[in-house]
Amino acid sequence: MTSDRDSNILILGGGPAGVSAGYELSKNDYRSTILERWRKVGGLAKTIEFGEWRSDIGPHRFFSKNRFLYKMIEEILHEQWILVDRFTRFYIQGKYFMYPVQMADALKNLGLLKAFRAMIDYLYSRFRKHLFNPPIKDFEDFVILEFGNTLANLNMINYTEKIWGIPAKEISAEWAKQRIKGLSLMALMKKAIFKGTKGPKTLVDQFYYPEMGASQTYEMMADKMEKKGSTVVTNATVCQLDHSDEGITSVTVEKPDGSRDTFECDQCISSIPVTELVKMLRPVAPEEVIRAAEQLKYRYQVYLFMKINKKRVSQDNWIYFPDKDIPFGRMHEPKNFSLAMSPEDKTSLWVEHFVFPDDSRWDCSTDELFEITLEHLEKLNFIKRGDVIEYHKHREDFVYPIYDLTYQKHSGLIKDYLKQFTNLQLVGRAGRFRYNNQDHSIETGVLAARNIIENANYDLEKVGAEQEYFEKYSLQTQGARTQQDLETGEMVSKAK
Ligand SMILES: Cc1cc2nc3c(=O)[nH]c(=O)nc-3n(C[C@H](O)[C@H](O)[C@H](O)COP(=O)(O)OP(=O)(O)OC[C@H]3O[C@@H](n4cnc5c(N)ncnc54)[C@H](O)[C@@H]3O)c2cc1C
Repeated sequence: MTSDRDSNILILGGGPAGVSAGYELSKNDYRSTILERWRKVGGLAKTIEFGEWRSDIGPHRFFSKNRFLYKMIEEILHEQWILVDRFTRFYIQGKYFMYPVQMADALKNLGLLKAFRAMIDYLYSRFRKHLFNPPIKDFEDFVILEFGNTLANLNMINYTEKIWGIPAKEISAEWAKQRIKGLSLMALMKKAIFKGTKGPKTLVDQFYYPEMGASQTYEMMADKMEKKGSTVVTNATVCQLDHSDEGITSVTVEKPDGSRDTFECDQCISSIPVTELVKMLRPVAPEEVIRAAEQLKYRYQVYLFMKINKKRVSQDNWIYFPDKDIPFGRMHEPKNFSLAMSPEDKTSLWVEHFVFPDDSRWDCSTDELFEITLEHLEKLNFIKRGDVIEYHKHREDFVYPIYDLTYQKHSGLIKDYLKQFTNLQLVGRAGRFRYNNQDHSIETGVLAARNIIENANYDLEKVGAEQEYFEKYSLQTQGARTQQDLETGEMVSKAK
């Protein structure tokens, strides 16, 4: 897939995956053009400015098992990559539970009777698993078998249903395997009882964060790219990809004023939703491919940002709200990530509603969203109406690719079809229809760039495909903070 340095390399989408691809190319003296529909780079990891306030569109804690990524970001941000103490909780039926789970805290909150019940359920599920090894058909089967009925229903099933908007019985077990396999209740208990015993390494209590917000990393990467001759075109929505039998030949974007620009293409790295991309192909993709794209669904999000006339509202980085009677799913306080996110004597809150586009909250007015949200924040004693200085609504589409029971069949069909275009690489989250965090998006971007630079064949589909809990390793053992770590950091070779 090699290209010379004068070829036209187009990158569709300026989120972490797209920008990382462009940055890696520019480090190797390749010029590229990023085509991004928003006014800035950052994608779902964007940071929005509201006067003196700033906020990401949801809490962004960077975590990776790949030391190369820590090294790469450290080289960009230097001392502006700050270490943050993690404090995160679940609010369930009137009580706050520490997250990641702390045994003593969980037992205290559950009460003796419920804790006993949880333990019996857990032992029963272990017994069933080992004796009968029942088939796991969906997410609900998986978590009940792993954790027992009581714990699965406490926060896993209801929160998952809130995120995805479909019953746990209709969510693929793949989702659970990717996210929570390896989290064992027994290991947590051992850790609580025998101090020093190695529990699951999910108890990450610190994380790195760019001082000016999650997108600082990507904005700085984009600046460096542009200084080396690459181009970032913002406010440019990709609307058409022309192709021959083998490859993409040009890409057309639409500007806010309705005008169109077309860019010639020798290599194309795409992080825009793959389901949209196949609909933009000219000549058009076969009907069965378009149908498969229409079967794949995403969860959207609507957010309320509030400037608050208080020094602080909470001590939490973020709080999850799995209960169904609370309309939103998560809230974060940007100041608890970095003091640079609000004026010294004020703070702010960012509240996430998970929706489908036909949900009334998607199109409701900012005032309506504020009223729906405020009612619950007042009840929960976080703020009073008089504390709110100003509020804003923000929306994002294609946020969570939904892993329903048939998503693999449909995304497989689309990707098989797209394989014929040898100069097209799919990277990132919606770009691959894979639920992943920043780390795996960056990895796919870097590897896509290296495929071009080295004429290599890194398999981007393998990035993040391992079925294990993302938080398995602690920052202290895996982060690249020591000089030795920085020097020994290697890019994933597994993808080769
Ligand atoms: C609420 C929330 C919380 C999160 N928390 C964390 C966290 O704690 N830690 C973590 O690591 N990750 C977190 N993530 C995930 C992280 O934001 C994503 O994994 C990452 O941003 C994905 O990067 P990407 O480049 O693959 O895709 P995206 O960020 O989606 O970027 C794709 C880009 O393509 C652009 N685009 C789309 N269509 C077009 C088009 N037609 N033309 C041109 N441009 C287009 C979009 O505007 C976007 O900029 C969170 C995400 C959300 C939403």
